[in-house]
Amino acid sequence: MSTQASRPGSIRDAVTAARSLFATGASKPLAWRLDRLKAMNQMLLDHRDDFSSALAADLGKHPAEAWLTEIGFLTAEISHTAKHLKRWLAPQRVEVPPALQPAKAHTVLEPLGVVLVIAPWNYPIQLLLAPVIGALAAGNTVVAKPSEMAPACSAALARWVPEYLSGAVTVVEGGVPETTELLAERFDHIFYTGNGRVGRIVMEAAARHLTPVTLELGGKSPVYIDDTVDMKAAAARIAWGKFMNAGQTCVAPDYVLGTPGALARLARELGKAILAQHGDDPAHSPAYGRMATDAAFARVAGMLEQDLRHGEGSRLVSGGRHEAATRYIEPTVLHVGSGAALMKEEIFGPVLPLVTVESAQDAINFINVRDKPLSLYVFSSDTGVRAAFTQRTSSGALNFGVPVAHLSVPGLPFGGVGASGMGNYHGQHSVHTFSHRKPVLDKPLSPDTLALVYPPSGALKRQVITRLVAPAKRRLRAR
Ligand code: NAD
Repeated sequence: MSTQASRPGSIRDAVTAARSLFATGASKPLAWRLDRLKAMNQMLLDHRDDFSSALAADLGKHPAEAWLTEIGFLTAEISHTAKHLKRWLAPQRVEVPPALQPAKAHTVLEPLGVVLVIAPWNYPIQLLLAPVIGALAAGNTVVAKPSEMAPACSAALARWVPEYLSGAVTVVEGGVPETTELLAERFDHIFYTGNGRVGRIVMEAAARHLTPVTLELGGKSPVYIDDTVDMKAAAARIAWGKFMNAGQTCVAPDYVLGTPGALARLARELGKAILAQHGDDPAHSPAYGRMATDAAFARVAGMLEQDLRHGEGSRLVSGGRHEAATRYIEPTVLHVGSGAALMKEEIFGPVLPLVTVESAQDAINFINVRDKPLSLYVFSSDTGVRAAFTQRTSSGALNFGVPVAHLSVPGLPFGGVGASGMGNYHGQHSVHTFSHRKPVLDKPLSPDTLALVYPPSGALKRQVITRLVAPAKRRLRAR
């Protein structure tokens, strides 16, 4: 563990220090929170090149993509949060029923305490710091654990975060042993992004301390497309969302459902879109990434090989080349049957299977017998089809006409449902995630209207209670 907390016992020390700072109350004033957000922004701008090089070293990310999906994404989130934070934190008045009058009620947001953030490797800077923005904005102190699978990014974070956010955020680097040690500590909230297997480990550890958790997990995010859309434009968007970061995006389109006619047209256009975005040999495209690890390469290439060789109904549309030495997998599109290896788990790589269905209803049934997706993408201009997907499916998010982009709308909550996760964040939703919404009721002692309900209760008091305070029967107004 090469970390800010690298001596034995230092993980406990890191948590204790974060707790001590929180206990002083220093993190509560709005000015402290805004200063921390400003400092993080400055860190990202001062060391943009360093973070960008780390992303290139770990994931082969092009600087433009690094800015769009990581560094610039974070500066936009900081600026949105800083702009609105004062208003978000203002107490919210709540109506008091006549029976309790005179009285005033409101809610206040209070910070939870010390937050643990555990991040994955695929967007190693964004997914560590975006929850940290929310946790600081809500007035917490933070212990942050970057992914050991993105070592250059982890090192850059461990180097710069202490310089700009000393005390407020402590970075603990490391892998399973360090995370296990962290999880043995008591936190006031744990925010985990990654796979569902580790999500279960995190939730079990949190249960021991009754710590609330946010789990940002993954799964297979489907696309449905029909013949009513501009196929060329749709193909360009699907190719962009699928092949960015070499398919290693939690909300990347995982597979496409459509009728045979729609899929045939889409397949033709996808080939052209890939050519336009990455050239005829994407291995030489500076905008095209690599699989993060040998294991990730072997898993995705293995599923692809299996389906191309033995998959019933499998037919290659474009791509298919791969090279273990450079962890390169060409952007690949293929037709598969629903029993294909590629349809058994989240692909998390640049391979896009097309699966034939009879109709939109058939696609809805296909989706509904599987785990609830993190995102669902519908390309259709048929209002009936759009309404059917809205009303009859459940997913973390539902987008029409564009994959992935909902992440960049800070007003939208981002998170999963069912197997794709629990809780959400971004913008104001982050502030709510990392706060306790405390109800405050203030009733003057005089006049003591509650005297009407104090025991002993005779007939008059019973009448007052059943008529005014807790009516026995309340008629619901007919609509
Ligand atoms: P990963 O391997 O980097 O693991 C995530 C974190 O868990 C790391 O910090 C790691 O140190 C820790 N970890 C790993 N094993 C552990 C263990 N046994 N005990 C305790 N901690 C452990 O990343 P990953 O899980 O491979 O990430 C990919 C998955 O994450 C995909 O399923 C993807 O869809 C999902 N994901 C979800 C989101 C989202 O926002 N919902 C974003 C990105 C990725």
